[in-house]
Amino acid sequence: MAKRIVVLGAGFGGLELSTILSDELGEDADVTLIDKGGAFVFGYSKLDVMFGRETSEAVHLPYSDFAKPGVRFVRETITAIDPEERRVSTDGGEYEADILVVALGADYDMDATPGLAEGGNEFYSVAGAQRLRDVIPGFTEGRAVIGVCGAPFKCPPAPSEAALLLHDNLSVRGVRNACKITFLMPLPSPVPPSPQTSEALLEAFAERSIEFVPGARIASLDPGRKVVLLQDGSEVPYDLFLGVPKHRAPDVVLASGMSEDGYIPVESRTLKTRFPGVYAVGDVATVGVPKAGVFSEGAARVVAAEVLADLARGEQPAGYDGLGSCYIEFGAGRVGRVDVDFLSGPKPTGTFRAPSGALAAEKEEFGSSRRARWFGH
Ligand SMILES: Cc1cc2nc3c(=O)[nH]c(=O)nc-3n(C[C@H](O)[C@H](O)[C@H](O)COP(=O)(O)OP(=O)(O)OC[C@H]3O[C@@H](n4cnc5c(N)ncnc54)[C@H](O)[C@@H]3O)c2cc1C
Repeated sequence: MAKRIVVLGAGFGGLELSTILSDELGEDADVTLIDKGGAFVFGYSKLDVMFGRETSEAVHLPYSDFAKPGVRFVRETITAIDPEERRVSTDGGEYEADILVVALGADYDMDATPGLAEGGNEFYSVAGAQRLRDVIPGFTEGRAVIGVCGAPFKCPPAPSEAALLLHDNLSVRGVRNACKITFLMPLPSPVPPSPQTSEALLEAFAERSIEFVPGARIASLDPGRKVVLLQDGSEVPYDLFLGVPKHRAPDVVLASGMSEDGYIPVESRTLKTRFPGVYAVGDVATVGVPKAGVFSEGAARVVAAEVLADLARGEQPAGYDGLGSCYIEFGAGRVGRVDVDFLSGPKPTGTFRAPSGALAAEKEEFGSSRRARWFGH
């Protein structure tokens, strides 16, 4: 008998899960996919918008193009989740599920860093990237600070990419010598699970005179004095602040009683929460992998296989392996790659592939293959 499957959030995780269920079950899938937004945007597109390489309109992939047999997309805001009853309330109605999958991602907590909203710019949302697109061309001298306001944060290499792309942008405009770039990072290295990747990034920073400050814990910004205040009491002056805000699960998740320490705990191999019939995938869950689309997608594949096995009363699939590859923009059209393995060994490992034009093409293919698979173009 068909089971009512309700998927919350149409990001990497929700789109992949719904696509597989549709591919396998067709009109019998009975999937309801709910998202408050009208379009999907790849995380890395925010860097493209911020540096003027793409327009905001061009990177929006409208959900109206996500047409899959057996999947009903509903554009509504989720206002409550009852994991015991597997019941979901939205601003448009109520949904009951036999299988409920929470894939609501991570939100930004601007208030957690006083001064960030008034005196800084964040580049982790499309709106923030769009604002910066107009601000960056006016920055011609002084100190730019790229600041990560808290960990964990999405796509660990992204702030390093922002520093390298800013270097390129300033160089092309002929003002690099009049500008200083400082990168404040709370972690001990750019990409801690992969020493090789961190080394390559540190080398790239050194070559470009980008100052990397590890272990920097940002407490607040003072927009009046244009300084970043660190928790150790020291101050870093800035003329342009490019920030990664602190992250947290969406309010509706925090209010649902499902979260612990800010995110939803799951059994890493199966993505099951402690509530029967309820799964959590992607950035909203504590899986033991980084917050990145490629991991949300991998987790969604495992949940899809489990659901299909349950429906067919077949064998359960092998558990989630925590493998994923992330592309890293080094500037000048070159892209590196880190292949990480989070769950198979005693500790995470990451192998680095040096930046090249070939990997830039591979990154293009990563995006275009998802676009074709999910949106048909
Ligand atoms: C600058 C930047 C660069 C990045 N680069 C990469 C990269 O190169 N590779 C990579 O793999 N990842 C990258 N990422 C990370 C990637 O974008 C995220 O990790 C990924 O989107 C997480 O997928 P998800 O399905 O868990 O959640 P999301 O994709 O965030 O989807 C969650 C969805 O839930 C919806 N939602 C939330 N709350 C509600 C509500 N109350 N009601 C209804 N809907 C709601 C949202 O609208 C959203 O569509 C990058 C991120 C950034 C910011």
